[in-house]
Amino acid sequence: MSTTISDVKVITTQPAGSRLVVVKLETSEPGLYGVGCATFTQRFRPVVTAIEEHLKPFLIGREVTRIEDIWQMLMVNGYWRNGPVLNNAISGIDQALWDIKGKMANMPLYDILGGKCREAAAVYGHAGGDSPESVVNSVESFIDQGYRYIRIQMGGYGGQSSGIIKPEGALDGSYFDPRDYCRNILEMIAYVREHIGDSAELLHDIHERLQPIDAVQFAKDVEQFKLFFLEDPLAPEDLEWFTHIRQQCATPIAMGELFNHPREWQPLIAGKLIDFLRMHVSQMGGITPARNAAIHANMYGIRTAWHGPGDTSPVGHAANLHLDLWAPNFGVQEWCRFPDLVYEIFPGLPEVRNGYMYPNDQPGLGIDIDEVLAAKYPCRDEVIGWTQTRLPDGSATRP
Ligand code: MG
Repeated sequence: MSTTISDVKVITTQPAGSRLVVVKLETSEPGLYGVGCATFTQRFRPVVTAIEEHLKPFLIGREVTRIEDIWQMLMVNGYWRNGPVLNNAISGIDQALWDIKGKMANMPLYDILGGKCREAAAVYGHAGGDSPESVVNSVESFIDQGYRYIRIQMGGYGGQSSGIIKPEGALDGSYFDPRDYCRNILEMIAYVREHIGDSAELLHDIHERLQPIDAVQFAKDVEQFKLFFLEDPLAPEDLEWFTHIRQQCATPIAMGELFNHPREWQPLIAGKLIDFLRMHVSQMGGITPARNAAIHANMYGIRTAWHGPGDTSPVGHAANLHLDLWAPNFGVQEWCRFPDLVYEIFPGLPEVRNGYMYPNDQPGLGIDIDEVLAAKYPCRDEVIGWTQTRLPDGSATRP
């Protein structure tokens, strides 16, 4: 008798900074279930509705083993396709089905994917501060904990400018000055490199905050400091400009946490215009499309560096880790260091020691959720401030 989907539950919780969405897929076999990440933290309610009201009626009674068919049909069954809400909803189902498949096979997911290429995944941490000196202090504390890859930011995304002169009546918001940012960050990166030498690989995230031509200039200027990669120098809306960066410097480029559709990353891979794929695995639709993108990128010498901040749920981090362990073209994994409470709510959340993230070798994703404890930390409704980004003259811009 085949094993079928008997129930689809959506669990929301906010034990730390981000509102998390996790799917729990139950099956006709008592005790057999899977979990998947469906976290779109800024718009989590429509994802919950999409799963509960639209995907669940479609899924009940379907065979759990048919992951590919279910993924393909979920993507086209609504006729209009893609987008962060639908892709995250599908990811929750997809990851839970992979988790179930691993449990049925009594294998960790990395074994289902093809087996380990490495014992653990090298991670990078987020160092930061308000001055070059404080960034160096932060970097040194990561080095002391064994990290060999460290992202350096100063003053948050876009930096902090003290001398912004706004027009009278300017609206509230998170203001920054892109040209000032370029100058300040270059000075900071030079300072950090001078102080730590080659004792760690350095990364920086522009967070697509620059005009395209300023991003080209920045990538050229920062080349001398030999970053491990420069992240999101351009927005998905400005993909054609990657050619100009490539023509002018050898700064390694990472891109992709905002991508929705394969047509966005395919030309960058085919053109060898980037070096690291940075997609948010739930945002692209789960493990199924991430596996395909990794295989495709490998043909072109491009590595993976899946998005892994606090707005990827612990279940999503576990999915990232299994992809990292398997992919021959794994590069590095972003890691956000969850507090102990999150480890209590998500038993099996991967541990990081000496700059490496380790699997626990349990079947499937190897992670679970304590629903009772999660319910004690409900999601808070709030209007998000940091994404209300404005340029010095008050105009709205990308966060
Ligand atoms: Mg980023």
